[in-house]
Amino acid sequence: MHPYRIGHGYDRHRLEAGKPLIIGGVVIDAPFGSVAHSDGDVLLHALIDALLGAMALGDIGEHFPDTDPRWKGANSGQMLAHVLELVHDAGYGLVNLDATVLLETPKLKPYKFGIRQNLAEQLSVGLDVVSVKAKTGEKLAPVGTSEAIEAWVACLLARHEA
Ligand code: MG
Repeated sequence: MHPYRIGHGYDRHRLEAGKPLIIGGVVIDAPFGSVAHSDGDVLLHALIDALLGAMALGDIGEHFPDTDPRWKGANSGQMLAHVLELVHDAGYGLVNLDATVLLETPKLKPYKFGIRQNLAEQLSVGLDVVSVKAKTGEKLAPVGTSEAIEAWVACLLARHEA
């Protein structure tokens, strides 16, 4: 296999009052949160799809079907750990990732560094490997009307030296 592989992931969740809002493993203080089978961590879900995509290993729905009781209410961090193991077992490691989260409100500026730190820790990489950017939906539906949260993640993997 080629020494480098690129991956891309995307996710969107509906927002609903009273649900917890978790982004990259960090709890965000908000009056609404993600509607989901799991903890609804849109950023970790996009990251998982980016890693799976880079390895051509299918998508998050195949690995964690919402009909599977094992993953009901699952911590997305556990799902990420499982996928990271697949990547490592295939002989690859993360070079870097670049994430964008779209949320109208609250502003993510005060959370971005904590999210980066948390992702770097979960992935066992340095902070310089992890980029987290935040944007609003410019008041346009569905993100801009706070009906949804979205995330995109691009990642690059490299084969371990034998
Ligand atoms: Mg999701």
